[in-house]
Amino acid sequence: LTARIPLPQNKDELYTVSKTINKLLDRVENALERERQFTSDASHELRTPLTVLKGTLEVLIRKPRNTEEYHDKINFCIAEIDRLNHLVDQLLLLARFENQKRSLSVEKLYLNGAFLDVISRFSSTIENKNIQLRTNFIKDYYIYTDNYLFSIVINNLISNAIKYSSQDATVTIDIQRMNGKIQCSIIDYGIGIAVEDVEKVFNPFFRSDANDHPQIKGTGLGLSIVKKLCDLLDIDIQISSKVNNGTSVILSLKEGELK
Ligand code: ADP
Repeated sequence: LTARIPLPQNKDELYTVSKTINKLLDRVENALERERQFTSDASHELRTPLTVLKGTLEVLIRKPRNTEEYHDKINFCIAEIDRLNHLVDQLLLLARFENQKRSLSVEKLYLNGAFLDVISRFSSTIENKNIQLRTNFIKDYYIYTDNYLFSIVINNLISNAIKYSSQDATVTIDIQRMNGKIQCSIIDYGIGIAVEDVEKVFNPFFRSDANDHPQIKGTGLGLSIVKKLCDLLDIDIQISSKVNNGTSVILSLKEGELK
C-alpha cells in the first residue's frame, strides 16, 4: 500500500489518497464477500446430497424391503456418492488453480490433436446420445500453453455441449485463424441459456437450467473452472446463446506459427 500511495502534501492530495484507500477497502470487502459466499454455497452443495443419502439409508434400515427396492435405493445412493465425488474433485481443482500463475508448464501444443484427444474421452456418451460431432479443422495450428490445464478447459466445454444437447443433435468444433488470433468454437444446438443468465454462468455454483431441466445433472462449477483457467492461460472466452437454439463458446488464443 505504502509503495502505491504517495504521502499527501496538501488537502487535495489527502482527499485523493482517502478516495484511493476507500476504493481499495471496497475491493478487499468485495473479495471477502465473494469468499464468504463461495464457502456458504460449497457447504450447502455438499450438505444437500449428504442429507439425502442419510435420509435414504435411515428409511432403508427402518422399513423392511424386497430385494428390488433395496437395489433401487442402493443404486440411487451410489449415484449420489458419484455426484459428491465429482463435486469434491471440482472444488479441489478450483482451490488448486487459485494461485497457480508461477507453476504453469508451457509447451507447444497442436490444437487438432488436443481437441481429438478430449473428444475421444466422450466417445461412449457421443455414441449413446448419437451426437453428430463435426470438426472443421482447416490447418493444424499450434499455440504455447499448459497442455494439462488447456485440456481441462476444452474438456469442460465439450462436456457441456454434449450434456445440454438432445439425442441425435449436432455439435460442431471449428478451429480457424481470425483477426490475428486462433479461434476455437464449440457450438451446440441444445437447450441454450436465457439472455439474463449468460453473464452469470461463470459464477461458481450457478445453474441456469436447474429448474427447467432437473434431469440434467451438474454442479455449476465447470464454467467457473474454465474461466479461472482462461484467465491463467491468457485466453479470451466469449459465450453466446439462445434458449432452445443452442450455445456457442469461442476461445481466442494467441497465435503460434503455421505448421
Ligand atoms: P454444470 O455442472 O451445471 O454444467 P457449468 O459451470 O459447466 O455447470 O455451467 C453452468 C450453467 O451454465 C449450467 O448449469 C447450464 O445452465 C449453463 N450451460 C453451460 N454450458 C451450456 C451449454 N452448452 N448449453 C446450455 N447451457 C449451458
